Amino acid sequence: MIVMKFGGTSVAEAARIRDVVEIVRGRRSRQPVVVVSAQGGVTNALIELAESAVRGSADPAPLRERFVGLLADLQLPADLLRDEIDELAALLQGITLVGDLTTRSLDRMMSFGERCSARVVAAALDAAGISAIGVMSYDLGLLTDSHYGRAEVLPESYETIAQRFAERVSPDVVAVVTGFVARDEAGFITTLGRGGSDFTAAIFGSALGAHEIEIWTDVDGVMTSDPRIVADARRLERMSFSEAAELAYYGAKVIHPATIHPAVRHDIPIRVLNTLRPDQPGTQIVNAETAATTGVRSIASKADITLVHVTSLRMLLQHGFMARLFEVFERHRIVIDMISTSEVSVSLTTEGDTDLAAAAEELGGFAEVRVESDKAILCLVGEGLRDAPDLLDRIFGTLRTESIPVRMVSVGASRVNVSMLVDRTDEHRAVRSLHAEFFGA
Ligand code: ADP
Ligand code: ASP
Ligand code: MG
Repeated sequence: MIVMKFGGTSVAEAARIRDVVEIVRGRRSRQPVVVVSAQGGVTNALIELAESAVRGSADPAPLRERFVGLLADLQLPADLLRDEIDELAALLQGITLVGDLTTRSLDRMMSFGERCSARVVAAALDAAGISAIGVMSYDLGLLTDSHYGRAEVLPESYETIAQRFAERVSPDVVAVVTGFVARDEAGFITTLGRGGSDFTAAIFGSALGAHEIEIWTDVDGVMTSDPRIVADARRLERMSFSEAAELAYYGAKVIHPATIHPAVRHDIPIRVLNTLRPDQPGTQIVNAETAATTGVRSIASKADITLVHVTSLRMLLQHGFMARLFEVFERHRIVIDMISTSEVSVSLTTEGDTDLAAAAEELGGFAEVRVESDKAILCLVGEGLRDAPDLLDRIFGTLRTESIPVRMVSVGASRVNVSMLVDRTDEHRAVRSLHAEFFGA
């Protein structure tokens, strides 16, 4: 069997969903399990609705109209999503009354996107003669901790999914599973972090022993850079799991960073494909031996990065300082991307939306803390980059020519990545000039 995940643009409107139906039809002999995202823009709309509800009033009518229109365009029953839409209206009313939006309620809000999408896509397949059922990933056993907004998947999920899937989904029916959402042990809905449907596809692929995980999106595959930044970015034929993992982690939105891990564990190839051009070969992500790639393969970037300098004249070189520092970050769940040290200070980076206030106050007890916002991380990815002889010369030469200052560098931590920190205002110019240097204009 294979898992086929369709992203937001791929299911955004009736014409796209009809394309999806034909793509699935073409792969029926491979026993597809389909994973879907919410219709493009719906997750953001749900978040906005929740935020306006806290402020006193929220009008779900435009979203309801969008679904009514979609169902009409697909000639599906107008009341197909009645339960979900009623529940959404009730939840909004609750948030308005209480005047408070917890991360738990926000997850339940966001879940409507994928829940509606699974029902619609399943009904569209069914109406086109492909027996299908919409299923909630959590009903099949996808269980997480209660870290709402970015929940961690509990390991027992894999076995439960395999078991329940065999019990509940007959082999001649296509299951259309909700991406992104899950449930915690108390039964509350959780989500896996923005863009998390890719991860759901990999979890199901791994649990069900898929031969391939297909990620259907709106570009031809993984490219040499984000085509929205570099107009002449090119498609990569093949890349290794580690290259893809680093690229995703450092901002290439085309796959969610967590996607690679379940695939690696069972050595399941991932293929990134374009719903708008289904005949294109896409990009295959496989183990390093099969990928057999070398040199710079792709450049990713992640904006909105904050740089934190921690200086302690008294304590830096003393035994236990680093442990104490990281213990504070750990306790406040602050994720660190890059780090560099000097005799008296440690500089590290974290994502800009991280709440640093409490951690900074605690660190202030034994060190001086200075925060600089509006930075960006650039990351060059490729097997063996760590050992490439003139790589740093070329990177720094290119950035020097463009007068782009480099604030921090990390090389050697992974064999496949070289990353550096620049000012956010220089991000796109830096990516374009490095792309021109390594891939030609
Ligand atoms: P989906 O809704 O299908 O999950 P996303 O918007 O999450 O799609 O991801 C696809 C987008 O990822 C592309 O439109 C592209 O702008 C962006 N992207 C960033 N880096 C890359 C890259 N290296 N290769 C391809 N696409 C990339
Ligand atoms: N719908 C979710 C989001 O917009 C998950 C996804 O698209 O993968 O983040
Ligand atoms: Mg995505």
